[in-house]
Amino acid sequence: MFPFTYTKVSSTREAITAAQRGGRYVAGGTTLVDLMRETVERPDTVVDISALPLREITTTSRGELRIGALVRMADAAADPTVRARYPVIADALELSASAQLRNMATIGGNVMQRTRCTYFRDMSAACNKRQPGTGCAAREGFNRSHAILGVSEACVATHPSDVAVAFAALDASIDLIGPDGVRRIPFAEFLLLPGSTPNREHSLRPAELITAVTIPAHPRPLRSGYLKVRDRQSYEFALTSAAVAMHVQAGVIRIAKVAAGGVGTVPWKLPAVERHLVGQRPSDRLWATAAAKAVDGTQPLAHNEFKVELLKRTVERQLRIVGGTR
Ligand SMILES: Cc1cc2nc3c(=O)[nH]c(=O)nc-3n(C[C@H](O)[C@H](O)[C@H](O)COP(=O)(O)OP(=O)(O)OC[C@H]3O[C@@H](n4cnc5c(N)ncnc54)[C@H](O)[C@@H]3O)c2cc1C
Repeated sequence: MFPFTYTKVSSTREAITAAQRGGRYVAGGTTLVDLMRETVERPDTVVDISALPLREITTTSRGELRIGALVRMADAAADPTVRARYPVIADALELSASAQLRNMATIGGNVMQRTRCTYFRDMSAACNKRQPGTGCAAREGFNRSHAILGVSEACVATHPSDVAVAFAALDASIDLIGPDGVRRIPFAEFLLLPGSTPNREHSLRPAELITAVTIPAHPRPLRSGYLKVRDRQSYEFALTSAAVAMHVQAGVIRIAKVAAGGVGTVPWKLPAVERHLVGQRPSDRLWATAAAKAVDGTQPLAHNEFKVELLKRTVERQLRIVGGTR
């Protein structure tokens, strides 16, 4: 470990001021401290935001669900409103990490977590995300766990979060506060595709702090769930995953929300799948033809071709489970 300054703040204003001076936010510390230990990240100052009053889950007057940035993953997963209205969020959280980690880690930290690409975490490997211009060791290296969607010449690392896939499916927004005040951005604009600048991972402005993730009020009943396929049944990141939510009225799918994880450089929304479902009646044939659209545009690497078929099957299976024809 290297020397750094630690400061604990008690208001968002104090937090922003400390971040403007170059401080780096830390919430549960389960990502940042690991990366500091490996010297992948070397902040001079760490700003502990864990005492800020951002731990509430509330329903707004417009029926939106607002999850505070400092709500712990375990608390969000256990929350009665989350479980009743958005099982897809509770499922995604419960299938993440381990019980110990979920008791420390926060929602804001989760969506900001960095890739698990081994080359990113290996200081001796070429990585454009860690050190722009050095190359991408994963492209020619062992890339079984890497992305097949949203990849670029510069980077093929996946975004590892599970709950971010549920947020992408549900068209969530990210609430922010920063030196210029508050703003809200759609989840789809929050995490950035790598392109030629994979070191730029999100659209937060300097010193901006996530205050909450907001889920819009979808028509009810909204059936939903999350399926995660991985090498072992616990404590493992997704090879593929699917978040699905559906509103079915009079036997017709009126709303379909679908996103995939483990396959994209960002949580991967699947609008072509959604469009294929809306206006149709649930059937096994419909799930299969919709899921086939999930793999449009995939660009597999030497060791992850298997993810193309696995993604299709994951989406199909989860559509069947949520759509109720299993
Ligand atoms: C062994 C292991 C297995 C894991 N498995 C999974 C898994 O299966 N699925 C999964 O989804 N995740 C998994 N994780 C990741 C885990 O969920 C994240 O480490 C955790 O959610 C990060 O939250 P935190 O509060 O600890 O973030 P921190 O480590 O405190 O912060 C992470 C990043 O977010 C920034 N940040 C934190 N809060 C804010 C905020 N409010 N505003 C702006 N920036 C902020 C920090 O500056 C930092 O860059 C795993 C982690 C480990 C160590």
